[in-house]
Amino acid sequence: MNSLKLKASLLVTGIRAEESAIAGLGETYKEQNHGLFGWDFENHKGILLPDDFILPDGAVVQFRLNSLSPYIVKSKGNELALFLNDAEICTVKWINRPRFYAQKTSSGQDMVKIGQIGGEDCLFFCYQNYCSHFGSNKQCYFCNLVSTFREYRSVMPKKDIQSIGEVAKTAWGEGMVNHILLTGGCFSNEKEVSLISDIFQSIRDNTGFERIPGTILPSPAKGDDIRRYYDTGIQAIGYSMEIWDDRLYQAICPGKSESTSHDEFVRSIGKAVNIFGPGNVYGVLVMGLETKETFLDGIRTLSGMGANIVPFVWSPNPGSKFAGHRAPTPEWYFDTVMEAAAIIRRNNVPTGDENHCYKCDGNSLLHDALRVK
Ligand code: SF4
Repeated sequence: MNSLKLKASLLVTGIRAEESAIAGLGETYKEQNHGLFGWDFENHKGILLPDDFILPDGAVVQFRLNSLSPYIVKSKGNELALFLNDAEICTVKWINRPRFYAQKTSSGQDMVKIGQIGGEDCLFFCYQNYCSHFGSNKQCYFCNLVSTFREYRSVMPKKDIQSIGEVAKTAWGEGMVNHILLTGGCFSNEKEVSLISDIFQSIRDNTGFERIPGTILPSPAKGDDIRRYYDTGIQAIGYSMEIWDDRLYQAICPGKSESTSHDEFVRSIGKAVNIFGPGNVYGVLVMGLETKETFLDGIRTLSGMGANIVPFVWSPNPGSKFAGHRAPTPEWYFDTVMEAAAIIRRNNVPTGDENHCYKCDGNSLLHDALRVK
């Protein structure tokens, strides 16, 4: 089966694993730690599951538990094999557990509760597992940030700056990490830029980087703050605009759209491209909640401005307002993402792979589509 079609199907359908297949999880292999959202189709408190896995062509796939899924991973001798019902499709591999997951910071905190590895090589920090839109019941309808934190309580809600720097140093020292992704929920105050500046200073002090390969994904950066984010030393910036179609955006993201309009997003992304450079700005979209037509309009406009796009495959996850709904078909995702990749290639956007690559993205198809020649 075509790897990209398979990945689309696995993300849309979910997956399960035989007990013998997940032996070594949490010791030899990387387990889920719920650093931000929950992407499984059902909660699994107290049960360790893989974070993600690798297909034979190197594509990283997020593990989204669905205990009714026809996809199942079974152990087969010394290998793991993916089955669709009774038919074997291919071998798969879990990802090795980073050594720092078992280590503590100098203040005695578990490093895994501060930073986690996304995919194979992206060191992820969420500086605050909270979003002000939940307080007014205006959270984005696809978001389960708060309920995921309450369900698992597996990470620290706020991380101290020195600990983040120590985790970055230790993780980079292992040789597994190539990029950083730093994000948080939406702040309702002006302190975010200075907090992020302090965090990146700590990371630079601990790693020796002058400019940090990776991406900051803050509350929408506007006006002079864009330059301030650039001056923190991070190489790329992202904008979680979520839905391209303006009317759907307002309906699905009631809180966020009150504070940042579609047009403000587009203007800010244009300004950010001028400051960070082409390819170093990301529009982040949730793929599967709007039509192919409007989604591709977004791809066309953003890539025409020199921005890259990370479109996450929507998961109707528990705790979100859309829990229990269904995503479009795998074929829809495949066709749409192939057209998106063609548009981006035509617009000659630099890949930005030094800041975010296909190995980071178990839950997006676009990087994989862009690898297909
Ligand atoms: S802005 Fe929306 S997606 Fe982001 S954390 Fe808040 S509710 Fe979730």
